[in-house]
Formats: sequence, C-alpha cells, structure tokens
Amino acid sequence: MLGKMMHRPLRISDILEFAADAFPTAEIISARTEGDIHRQTYPETRDRVCQLAHALQKLGVEMGDRVATLAWNGYRHFELYYAVSGIGAVCHTINPRLSVEQLIYIVNHADDRLIFVDTTFVPLLEAVQEHLPKGLTYVIMTDRDHMPATSLVGALCYEDLLKGQPQRMDWRDFDENTAAGLCYTSGTTGHPKGALYSHRSNVLHAMMIAVTLGNTFREGQKVLPVVPLFHVNAWGLPYAGPMAGLSLVMPGPALDGPSLFKLMDQENVYSAWGVPTVWLGLLAEIKEQGRKPNGFGDVVIGGSAAPRSMIEAFEKMDVSVGHAWGMTEMSPVGTHGTLPSFTNDWPLEKRLDLKQTQGRRVFGVELKIVDDDGERLPNDGKAVGELFVRGNAVVAGYYNNDEATAEALDEEGWFGTGDVASIDKDGYLTIQDRAKDLIKSGGEWISSIDLENAAMAHPSIANCAAIGVPHPKWDERPILVAVPTDSERVTLEELHELLSEHFAKWQLPDDIVWVDELPMTATGKVSKLNLRKALADYKHPEVH
Ligand code: AMP
Repeated sequence: MLGKMMHRPLRISDILEFAADAFPTAEIISARTEGDIHRQTYPETRDRVCQLAHALQKLGVEMGDRVATLAWNGYRHFELYYAVSGIGAVCHTINPRLSVEQLIYIVNHADDRLIFVDTTFVPLLEAVQEHLPKGLTYVIMTDRDHMPATSLVGALCYEDLLKGQPQRMDWRDFDENTAAGLCYTSGTTGHPKGALYSHRSNVLHAMMIAVTLGNTFREGQKVLPVVPLFHVNAWGLPYAGPMAGLSLVMPGPALDGPSLFKLMDQENVYSAWGVPTVWLGLLAEIKEQGRKPNGFGDVVIGGSAAPRSMIEAFEKMDVSVGHAWGMTEMSPVGTHGTLPSFTNDWPLEKRLDLKQTQGRRVFGVELKIVDDDGERLPNDGKAVGELFVRGNAVVAGYYNNDEATAEALDEEGWFGTGDVASIDKDGYLTIQDRAKDLIKSGGEWISSIDLENAAMAHPSIANCAAIGVPHPKWDERPILVAVPTDSERVTLEELHELLSEHFAKWQLPDDIVWVDELPMTATGKVSKLNLRKALADYKHPEVH
C-alpha cells in the first residue's frame, strides 16, 4: 500500500524562497574583487536571483543548458547557483586552478553556452579564448564602473544584465531529478570527469549535513566557506546555509592567514570550512596575534587528512574541530567527526584519537570496505580495504563519459571511492591510503600517471613514477622518481620546461630522485606502495 501524501519536487529555488521568508535579516557578506565588503540579505538576494534568472532566459538559456562560472566565493557566484538551476539550466562551476589544457577540455566537454567570469580570471580566459566553443557568451561579474578592457568577444557586464529585470519569478515546476550543477574532478589519467548533481541530490545533501553538523547550522550564526564555490558546491554550504538561517561570509580572492583572520574577526565568524593548508595559514596568524579571531568556535576540516597537531591546536583554543571526509562524487560530505555527547568529559587525548579519524557517516550515506575480490570486510577497526559508498547524493555515473561511468560502480551498485580505509565497530572511518594514482597538493589534484607519461618523453628517463611525499604546508607534493638512460640526465628546470605545456605550475614535481630500478608488482606495474615505503626517509627540498 502506498502512503497518501503529496509529492512536491525537491527544488533548489525553494531553499532561497524559504530563506527570504524565514530569515529576512540573515546576510550574504562578501569580500569583493572590487576591494570592499558587500552585504545583502536573503530577501535582497532572492530579488537579484530572480532578475538574473529573467536575464538568463532573455539570453536564450533553456532547460539543460550549461552555464559556467569561473569565480571566487562571493554573492554574484552565489546568485548564479540559484538563478541558473532555478530555470532548469546547469551551473557548471570551473576550478581556475586547473591546467589550461584541462580548462579548455572541460568547457568544450560541457559544451557551455555562457561563462560568467570574475575580473581576476578574465586574462585566463582571454589566453584560451580561441580554443573555447565559438558561440560562448562571456559575462564579466562586476558593474559598469569596474568593467575591464577585454578581448573576450562580446563580453557582457553582470550588473547591466540585472538592471530593469523583474524581482519576482514563477519558478518552473520540473522533475526533481533535473540536473542542477556540474563539477569536474580529476581522473587518475586522461581528462577530468563530470559529476552532474540534481535538484533532488543537492537538496537532500543540504538536509543531510544540516542535521549532522549541528554545531555549524544554528540560525543567526555566521559561517565562512573558505572552500571554494568551484569545489563541489563549497561542500553544500550555499544550500544548507540559507536553509538553516546562517549568514554566509564569502572571502573572495584573499585566502591567506592574515586576510582570513581579519575578515573572521570583523564579522564575528563562528564556523569556518576548508582544507588543512588554509588552516595552517590561519593558525600562523593566530600565533602572531596571540589570540583567535572574535567569535571563532568551530572549524570543519576536509579535503585531505587533518593532522593531529592541527586538531589539537584548534581544540586547545576552544575551537571545535569537525574532521570531514567526502568526494566531488558525493556532493561531497560522506563522514564527519562530531563526537557523541558522552565523550564530552573524556580527556583531550582520548577525544583527539577519535577526532583524528575521518568520523562517522552522515545520514543518507552508507559505507562498506571490501578486499581485492570485492568481498565485504568487517567493521572491526583492523581490516583494511577499498571504500565503497551508496546514497542519494552519490553519483550514478559521469556526465557524458561512458568509459568512466562503466568503471564507477561495483556489481551491487556501490561507488568505488579509490580510498583505502578501515572502519571500527562504532562506525569511525580511518582513511589509510589511496588506491587511485593521484597526488593531492593543497586540496587540488595532480595525476601521477599524466606526469609520468609526459616525463617519459625525455630521452634521459628510461622509466619513472610520480609519487606524493608529505609536505608541512601543502600536505603532499609531487616528486618524480626516475631510472636514467645513458643520455645526460634532465635537470629539474628542463623537466619543468618540458611539462609546463600540459600542467599548471603548481602541479610540477618539486624534485627528481634518480634510482637504479623501480619496485614492481606481480603484474608488472610500478608498486607505488613499495616505492613510498622505500622513500620513507626522503626529505622534501624545503624540509630540513
Ligand atoms: P575531491 O573529489 O577533490 O573532493 O577529493 C576527494 C578525495 O580527497 C577523497 O577520495 C580522499 O582521497 C581525499 N580526502 C577528502 N577528505 C579527506 C580526509 N578528511 N582525509 C583524507 N583524505 C581525504
């Protein structure tokens, strides 16, 4: 027997309409590229989102069209999230830290119709314009007074688009499974792969994190997403924040410790979210100032493992740490380290043991670990296997990519994360290693295989492997371990020159370590595991 209840589609536009009604004084506060602090309430934001939605329709944007953004965290980027999805189009957030090659690939692969760009990134687009789709419309995210001179053909001005448009919109009633957002993530090799979120998955994900991360989601609190809006929906904050009545503080381009400290201090930010590298900068500034920013009480650390020393430093200044794990393919939050209330009176060391794990699953995400044959392993804290996940905010495949889609799910329909983990009897997840051949530096991916393939083009390299080595600031940095031929050995500078055609500067290896041979697996592949073990004593050039 079916229940006898209404069925209303879960739509993203309803979140903002709700926030405008329920939380009329909560704000989006933005450090703008124009250099000042800008504030607008949810009702004001709703009005502008409606204007933008009308403008998009006037420009001919239709259901399913991809509209790209290349922008920092700010109110206009937030407005695009809602206006684009509100009319049934797809908001494709582009990571400006990608290599030029990857950027060109994804704009073409997504077949974007429009691209909204912050003034900062205009030169980046100008440089690649000839490789982008011919009919692409460029919109610069500023007002008439700040419009830069640009060679971007037919570039429009964001604020001009909004002028005179109606401040109300009858949002279309479409299926809740309609695509809403597109975010590309690095593959282990080849091109990035697109996670295509739906209205339903984004609304459910927002509800999932709002109930789990109770410390952050209290009406009236100010929360700072340092995590970019171009990184998996800023971990869901642009949706869950308005739903719960938070004010969102958008940091714009300045993500260094002193700038973040100042903004948090001025705005009385309670909770801030981002990758470990960012918090190193903030902790250094806190040390410098001899105090934490005003009102700071909660930090969510994810994207890479949070070091124990970092968790301890925050906890000792009464900033509660939530260590989170997730993926682009999971919208992204999978687990979170909120400790149960019965641990409140535990000694710090014992609490840190738990906080250091990646935490427990959020409602709506299931976890399993399996051995090499795909057999399920027990949650006993000892067994280590590849981590698989299932849930309503997990991808069922990749956008227009049959090959990657075919490999994404196991026979039972679970998504393979490429992480290697253990889960203890209480459900605490510990990420032990990475099965996927990728290096994560400062929260951004570098494909080891692509580095290796490109480096092999040099005649002095007979064989090579790129691995990540620990780094105090960037968490991991790539180095190249190479077996020489008889030719004169390539220098690091020459290698950089060779690779810079295909990679962004920060993706280039920091060192070349020459070896006589590379450790191999039984199947004839380089054993990265053994290589990492063999180089356990390796010291990064910057670490002495
Ligand atoms: P992305 O899709 O760029 O968000 O990257 C997701 C991947 O980052 C995961 O599969 C992990 O390899 C890694 N990751 C994310 N959060 C954590 C964490 N808290 N600890 C360790 N690794 C993490």
